[in-house]
Amino acid sequence: MQVLYVFAHPEPRSLNGALKDHAIDHLRRAGHAVDVSDLYAMDWKARLDAADSTGPAAGRFDPAQASKLAYENGWQSADIAAEQDKLRRADAVIFQFPLWWFSMPAIMKGWFERVYAYGFAYGVGEHSDQRWGDRYGEGNLAGKRAMLIVTTGGWESHYSARGINGPIDDVLFPIQHGMLHYPGFDVLPPFLLYRAGRMDEARFAAERAALDQRLDTLFTATPIPFRRQNGGDYDIPALTLRDAIAPGAHGFAAHVADPAADVAT
Ligand code: FAD
Repeated sequence: MQVLYVFAHPEPRSLNGALKDHAIDHLRRAGHAVDVSDLYAMDWKARLDAADSTGPAAGRFDPAQASKLAYENGWQSADIAAEQDKLRRADAVIFQFPLWWFSMPAIMKGWFERVYAYGFAYGVGEHSDQRWGDRYGEGNLAGKRAMLIVTTGGWESHYSARGINGPIDDVLFPIQHGMLHYPGFDVLPPFLLYRAGRMDEARFAAERAALDQRLDTLFTATPIPFRRQNGGDYDIPALTLRDAIAPGAHGFAAHVADPAADVAT
């Protein structure tokens, strides 16, 4: 299968760098073809701006409109178009990064902002009072799998249900639901390496083995059952959960399907 590996860490000799090298080697040994987008090594341009289009300059820069025109007319800068080609040919995409300020490093955020063009990752499908586009489970990246590999300085307990940092599923929700499920990916549970500062050879070997197991099930593991926008759980155009769906539930967790919590109608 074809895998795209998107990686953000400035130091190749870091723990993340070692995990990335190991993971890519493991995937290739398993017979997968792997495209690698090592964002710092590529000197990836993180800033979305008017230079992202080679088309005629408009007066006032409108990021979404400029993205739409560039995507439709073949005016996108070559680095953006190349990453979209990698996404198109991928069966699965892995995003690996250290958790920095409760999110991904800015260089990777800039990858999403620029590569996820209007018409490619959003603004896809019919938009009307009956249908709010092809998104959250549908879209141009539907049928592909995505998985995060994230290292944290914080302990697992800090990210537990009552931990001070907030549950890790909540911390990662904007990425896994908002940036991966949105354009259609099936999102696998993340591979998490907590308390990365406390590492020695024995633990590193155990973490590598745990990661190998996740890589070996990249194409068979059950994705997180995020609810699909157009699957009947939401009222459109309000886009709120229908009353019969998980009544009383709110917040991020309500958007993960739990048939036992839904009322039969
Ligand atoms: P490194 O520092 O490279 O290594 C970590 C440990 O692994 C070291 O002990 C190192 O000796 C060892 N190691 C490295 N390579 C190997 C190897 N090949 N074999 C065996 N051992 C090895 N954490 C949070 O939890 N939440 C946050 O919001 C957060 N925000 C941050 C913001 C910033 C700007 C920064 C810099 C850090 C933040 N952190 C946060 C901590 C961050 O998540 C960790 O520092 C990061 O995950 C560690 O990954 P690394 O690859 O940089 O590790």
